[in-house]
Amino acid sequence: MEDMDLYLKKHDEVLYHYDIDDHVRELARKYGFLEYMVERYLNIFGSDAEIFMKSCSAQLKRSLRCNTLRTDCKKLEDRMNERGFKLSKVSWTRYGYVVENTPVRPTLGSTLEYMKGYYYIQGLASMIPPEVLSPSEDDLVLDMAASPGGKTSHLAQLMGNRGVIVALEKNTARLRRLNSNLARLGVANTITVPIPGDYVSSIGIKFDSVLLDSPCSGEGLLPVDPSRRTKTLPQHLREFQRVQLSLLIAGIRSLRKGGKLVYSTCSIAPEENEVIVNFAVEKFGLRTEEIRGIPADPGLVEYKGVRFSEDIKKCIRLYPHKHGTEGFFVCSMRKE
Ligand code: SAM
Repeated sequence: MEDMDLYLKKHDEVLYHYDIDDHVRELARKYGFLEYMVERYLNIFGSDAEIFMKSCSAQLKRSLRCNTLRTDCKKLEDRMNERGFKLSKVSWTRYGYVVENTPVRPTLGSTLEYMKGYYYIQGLASMIPPEVLSPSEDDLVLDMAASPGGKTSHLAQLMGNRGVIVALEKNTARLRRLNSNLARLGVANTITVPIPGDYVSSIGIKFDSVLLDSPCSGEGLLPVDPSRRTKTLPQHLREFQRVQLSLLIAGIRSLRKGGKLVYSTCSIAPEENEVIVNFAVEKFGLRTEEIRGIPADPGLVEYKGVRFSEDIKKCIRLYPHKHGTEGFFVCSMRKE
């Protein structure tokens, strides 16, 4: 852990220093964000910062994932159509649909099809990490932070309910929600375990693949939750960084040689993304892998003068103003 502390300390002064001038103050007032957030958006997006902040006020289209463990997707489309929903398939996901039209009743979360587990209501970007991990049917898979189970159930679907998934969740109330979702969705290859993800390396099992959909600030969810414009303070980002790095280290230690680890967050903060995966590349020699076929921006190789490995370019970033999704980060890495 000493390495981790030194690494975070090395970048701390630059990452957490904010130049707040009149322009930043004016934009913060206009869009209702904290000033330090606006300063960071100017660093991340340059002249597009205002377009990004504006896009956080527009409603994202709702989306769902057809669950082939319970139904056939054509049958789901037809049944939803009869109820007054119009689903349109999203070409870059295997099972994702945008809900173009919604009746007054029933709501998306109260149809018979929902109760029967025919679909899971899920943001489009959130469907990317399991597809990138793409486990095979006989894999032993670790899902390090699993509740409410959107990605665990998606992994089970991709594995045809074969192989084994070990899904960790440290919060017991959230573990109940995970178990109930997995039951509704017909998941039968998953063991849920109520422990923090960082304990896993002490068990000594080596997994074929690891998903770390990490706890994070949720800074990518600004379009669906306006309260996030003022909720996260710099010290919260620092706290998340420590959790993220310790989970990542445990994940790497639990991955077999040649195995794949996918790191993702619903955050656009470089502090929680590039800074974290860069540690895996620099200190553990993990190799990032290209993510193809998804409309996205590359990972940042520089932020506020801090340079990351060139390999981080292969990670992807999604934004509401460019890709029509929640803000998201995904990185696929291989242990040599
Ligand atoms: N992967 C989930 C999905 O797709 O539905 C979402 C995971 S959410 C981003 C992060 C989860 O990690 C939360 O449920 C939180 O309670 C849990 N968590 C926080 N710290 C953790 C830790 N140290 N170990 C395991 N889970 C943790």
